[in-house]
Amino acid sequence: MRTFYHSTRSSATTVTSKQAILQGLAPDGGLFVTDAVDQMELDYKSLLSKNYQDQACVVLSTLLGDYTDEEIGRCVKKAYSNQFDNPDITPVTKIGDDWLLELFHGPTCAFKDIALQMLPQLMSVARGESEDSVMIVTATSGDTGKAALEGFADVPGCGVTVFYPAGKVSDIQHLQMVCQKGSNVAVCGVRGTFDDTQTGVKEIFSDPELNARLAQRHIKLSSANSINIGRLVPQVTYYFFVYSKLVEREAIKAGDKLDFCVPTGNFGDVLAGYLAKKLDLPIRHLIVASNANNVLTNFITTGRYDRRRPFIKTISPSMDILVSSNLERLLYYESDGDADYVASLMQQLNDEGYYEVTKSVKERIQKTFLAGYADDAVTKKTIKETFENEGRLVDPHTAVAKTVLDSIESDGVQRVCLSTASPFKFSADVLSALGKDTAGKDGFECMDELAKLAGLAAPKQLSELRSAPQLHKDVEDLDQMPAFVENSCTRIFR
Ligand SMILES: *Cc1c(COP(=O)(O)O)cnc(C)c1O
Repeated sequence: MRTFYHSTRSSATTVTSKQAILQGLAPDGGLFVTDAVDQMELDYKSLLSKNYQDQACVVLSTLLGDYTDEEIGRCVKKAYSNQFDNPDITPVTKIGDDWLLELFHGPTCAFKDIALQMLPQLMSVARGESEDSVMIVTATSGDTGKAALEGFADVPGCGVTVFYPAGKVSDIQHLQMVCQKGSNVAVCGVRGTFDDTQTGVKEIFSDPELNARLAQRHIKLSSANSINIGRLVPQVTYYFFVYSKLVEREAIKAGDKLDFCVPTGNFGDVLAGYLAKKLDLPIRHLIVASNANNVLTNFITTGRYDRRRPFIKTISPSMDILVSSNLERLLYYESDGDADYVASLMQQLNDEGYYEVTKSVKERIQKTFLAGYADDAVTKKTIKETFENEGRLVDPHTAVAKTVLDSIESDGVQRVCLSTASPFKFSADVLSALGKDTAGKDGFECMDELAKLAGLAAPKQLSELRSAPQLHKDVEDLDQMPAFVENSCTRIFR
């Protein structure tokens, strides 16, 4: 069965899911959505006894209807095998009275691997026999970049260019990116914030002259940011998976509702939960947890989105975002698919820096979504208490979510906290949260000390960066980003 997608800002033109994945962003700047999601048939009960890979096959086939089962099966097999260090891919563990969904067992130790091991496979199939090459262009606040590089490195017919805000990612995140191997990869620091970098990438996609020049050379640009539907859909699987695990452990009975708390930046991860709910997985609340950049907390509580505020650099950098792109998809669904309305809100956000949704849209959103935030001081306190009381190390992003979850009184509904990164990826901040002095210590010294303190081994993917050569040294101004992409295309595709 074909699944048709169209822009959040206009339903005039539809594309198949394969085309949507290849294009990334819709030509009018909107994000691809499907109206069919409410009618799709996916019985969560039929997934209960399946392993992660088999659940992924069902979820992906449902949402991406124009891939054959055989194609999806092949993609799943390549994406979710021994590059994950746990057979469950996203294992579920108990933390206090709640549950932790561990999403950091992939090659880059952050949850983005779940989607970015899959996206290149989906793109490869969608490209088919095409002569055109695909250049992935991605802005990263730290984790996406490495996960995209790792997913796309040496995938035939594809190249990948990653822009990160220079000086605004952690030591380890920086090394992960600049040490990336592969003949088709390009990495560049940008003098600006993540939001500047993301805006720069969006401008590259909508630059007609640049795209025409590349088209002449049979190169298409696409995105690996969570604006790409192929990034979002794989994330839906683990909401089903944790549900099946909790039934298996007899923590819930089939049909019981769950609450999820999600450390949120670009609103991709939590939107995947929203799609799972639309597919009838019993979910009560989705709790959006933010750091001090709490623009989403304000939006969900007041209905007013306002990005005109200072950007705060925090210890959870992957959530340092003032414009959460995927929120646009929620606005589309919660306004009953009113694309003109979404387009007008986005126009206002662009021109004036804010918008306010109608009372009815706000109330609909509040039925499903709760929100809260934690600043760095409280987040550090949570890291310390979680270690001392539960014997568990959590990374700062997870700690933000745990703080918010702990602030909401439990009423008997089982709750799942999404754990999005390995604590070793943020060793210095975690160590300092535990009350240790980190002055003058580099990322690796902190990693060693943290490992010793916790009696754990740091993941090999991180510790081996110590001796890896730094291959990518470019740092550019914002206005040089298009030229960097064009030069990378020349080098990679000749
Ligand atoms: C990207 C990221 C997030 C935020 O996820 P979104 O989908 O952007 O909301 C949270 N935690 C970590 C560790 C991340 O890498």
